[in-house]
Formats: sequence, structure tokens, C-alpha cells
Amino acid sequence: MGKWDCVIVGTGPAGLGAAFALKNSKPDLKILMIDRERYSTGGLRNDCKMNFTFPIGFPAEYWNQESADSYLTKVAEILQPPIMDKFKLDVYQKRAERLDVTLLSIKQAHLGTDGGLKLIKELVASLKEKGVEFSLGEEATGVKYSNNILITEKREIEYKNLIIAPGRKGFKFLQDIMNNLDISYYDNIVDIGIRVESHEALYPIVRDYYDPKFLFPGSVRTFCTNSRAAYVVQEKYISTDGVEYYSVNGHAWSDESKVNNLVNFALLKTSHLTHPVASGQKFAEILGLQANLCGGGRPIMQRVGDFRIGKRSSKETFNNDLYDFKPTLKSCTPGDISLVVPYKIMKSLWTSMKLLDTVIPGILHPSTIMYYPEIKMYANKPKFLDENFQAKKNIYLIGDGAGTSRGITVAWASGIRAADGILKS
Ligand SMILES: Cc1cc2nc3c(=O)[nH]c(=O)nc-3n(C[C@H](O)[C@H](O)[C@H](O)COP(=O)(O)OP(=O)(O)OC[C@H]3O[C@@H](n4cnc5c(N)ncnc54)[C@H](O)[C@@H]3O)c2cc1C
Repeated sequence: MGKWDCVIVGTGPAGLGAAFALKNSKPDLKILMIDRERYSTGGLRNDCKMNFTFPIGFPAEYWNQESADSYLTKVAEILQPPIMDKFKLDVYQKRAERLDVTLLSIKQAHLGTDGGLKLIKELVASLKEKGVEFSLGEEATGVKYSNNILITEKREIEYKNLIIAPGRKGFKFLQDIMNNLDISYYDNIVDIGIRVESHEALYPIVRDYYDPKFLFPGSVRTFCTNSRAAYVVQEKYISTDGVEYYSVNGHAWSDESKVNNLVNFALLKTSHLTHPVASGQKFAEILGLQANLCGGGRPIMQRVGDFRIGKRSSKETFNNDLYDFKPTLKSCTPGDISLVVPYKIMKSLWTSMKLLDTVIPGILHPSTIMYYPEIKMYANKPKFLDENFQAKKNIYLIGDGAGTSRGITVAWASGIRAADGILKS
């Protein structure tokens, strides 16, 4: 098929953002998007809460208020987010401030997992109409830099520009590429925490503010809140040594038939590791593997009531007595998270739970479930050549996998920024 003006690896929001920006500026460009999955497209398939306010999702080293605002405007032009109203924000904020807790006011849209799928179909159809070609079910395996060739499991593809946006799950692929191309990088920041699940009635703020963003002392924050038809899920990861393990996550449906009146959210502590730790990813992996070991190959869950009295949860804890709702992640193992969460992290998380329970009384009800591990390995942070995330001449590394974003809208913004670099050159 000859040389492509731009080949994009990954059809997540970062890749899509780049494709739209390139095609809308130069309709004649020949663009190919490839993805190892048989369907499009990355993390837009999960819940699809979109945050449109700095600093949510913006890694501080690449973005500031001004660049974030300017790119978010462009993101919104394509995604047309239905921004949700918030109520009683000042009441919650005043209560939080008294405890040294911050509640950020964020512009949000929420489509739900099913709404996200609909959006993806529309976006892909629109790109196809503009002439972008898709090759799904094709995995990229490497790059022959001196020949401008992307290698996949099926063929060799010649490019003028290459955008690699493989998401968090493409962490290792990206690391291999960077090692082979001599792109230096560091990965010293990790978010480690729990996913909390409870009755919506015990965390009623979600009726006023869909995904409330609380910041607690000790670099702890709430993240990715889901409610009404909310479910905890597990995601499979493969460690750098090839061992499988699971981290938890959450999402919600907009479909009325799936309403369970539960809520779940992550409580994450950010750790910046310093010398001599070489890899934050390895550190996080070891914690994930350890938790899975104790859970018999699965994540662990514990009721707050058991945790408070220092007792492990067991199958019997999950009955219909006081603990009157069933965990939505059925495959999780009841156990003792305090056995596997490092002390410093657990202490910060538990303090934050207590603060949260003071701002919104209820979340520390004994029935509340804490799932562990929820781990976000944000990055291989490559050393970029310019502000457009060019890491090697004509090769751009973007999105959550490359640490230029932490969420849908910022991944999309990273794509536009890489496209700007290509258009400039
Ligand atoms: C359960 C869950 C819920 C989430 N909910 C939200 C939310 O509500 N709001 C929010 O802002 N963020 C949410 N996120 C995070 C969000 O999904 C990511 O921030 C975002 O998708 C990152 O975009 P990306 O384009 O960088 O990567 P991704 O969306 O992960 O896309 C990367 C794509 O690259 C493909 N790929 C990887 N390696 C290769 C390869 N070697 N060859 C070919 N293709 C490859 C993958 O198959 C994937 O399709 C959620 C994540 C999960 C897992």
C-alpha cells in the first residue's frame, strides 16, 4: 500500500485524537490506524467519564493551565460532551476545607460503558468517512527505525510519521520500543490504592456530583467514581517477567436494567520513588503479585467492619446479615488487605477514608468493601525531543502508556498535540 503519511498504533482516545486533528487539517493525508484488538477502541470502552478541567488527568510536567484549556477546547469540539450539573458543591467544599481536604470542581460528562461504545462507533465511522484506514486485530511488534518501518505480526508498514499510543496495557511493548530505539525514559511514579464499594445511600454526594474529586493530605485522591449501575471489575496484567496478575477497576452502565444503587470509587496514593529504586513499575508489580498470591490468584476484598477490628473477611462475611449487599466483583477473594498493603500506603488510605466519612458521613459503614490492588502505572516517561511528544525523529509517543495523560480527554489532547507536531514539520 506504499508509504503512509502517518501510521497510528492504538485506537484509544490518544490515537483517535491524533487522527481527527490530522485529517481535519489536511484531508489528503494517508493515515492508517492499527490495533491489536479486534474492535476499536481502548479505554473509551470503559465507563466513559470525561473530565474537562485542569489538572484532572494532566501530568504536571507536560501541561499547564493554559495549554490544558486550549487543548480541552479542541477535544470538546469533536467529543461534544454533555456536561453534567453539580449541586450543593459549596456545602461539601466548606466541610472538606475544615479538614484540610480539597474538593475540586470539575466539568464532567458521563456516557457509561454502553454510551461509550456508541460514541466509539460514531467516531470510527466519521474517521472512515474522512478516508482513515483501520486495521484491527493486528499487533505491532517493533520498529525498523533506519527504514521508517513499523513491524507487525503480519507485515512491514512504511511510514513518514509514526504515532505510538498503546495505553497502559501496552506498557511493555512501549518499553521494548524505547530500549531498541535508544530513547531514554524513567518510570518512578505509581499510584497504589483500593477500590471502595458501598451503597449509593452511604455516599449520596454522587447524586449531586457524579465523580467527586477529593484531594487528601498525603497525596491521596478519589478517582473514577461510578454509581447507580456501578460494577467493580478486574483487569489482567502481565508482569515484566511474564506472570499474570489482576488489578481492580470500576465502571457504570447507563442501561436502566443494570441499576443496583451501588457506588464504587478508587482511593489512590501517589508515590514518587527516588534513587536507588530503578522502576516504579516493578515496585507496583511486586505489590500486585503479592496481593494476588494471598488472594489465590485473584484480588482481595475486605469489609470495613472486619478491617476495623483487625479481622480478615471470609466467605461467611459476605452474607445477607448486616453486610447486606453482595460484592459486584464475584471472583475476588475475601481476605485481609492490611497483610498486603504497605504500611505507609495503608495508613494514608485509612486516614483519607476517615476524613471522607467526616465530609460525607456513611462511607465507613461496616458493610463497605475495600478491594485491593488498584494500581495505576502511569508511565514510562520518555525523554521527548520537543513539546509535541516526539521521542525520535518522526516518532511520537503519546497517551497513558507514554505518561502524557491519565484519562480519556487528556489522552485525546495528547493526540492533537502530536498531530500539531507532525503538521508543523
Ligand atoms: C475499567 C476502566 C475504566 C476507566 N474509566 C475511565 C473514565 O471513566 N474516564 C477516564 O477519563 N478514563 C478512564 N479510564 C482510563 C482511560 O481508559 C485511559 O486514560 C485512556 O483510554 C488512555 O488512552 P490511550 O489512547 O492512551 O490508551 P488506550 O485507550 O488504552 O488505547 C490503547 C490501544 O492500543 C492498543 N495496543 C496496545 N498495544 C498495541 C500493539 N502492540 N499493537 C497494536 N495495538 C496495541 C490497545 O489494544 C488499545 O486499544 C478507565 C480505564 C479502565 C481500564
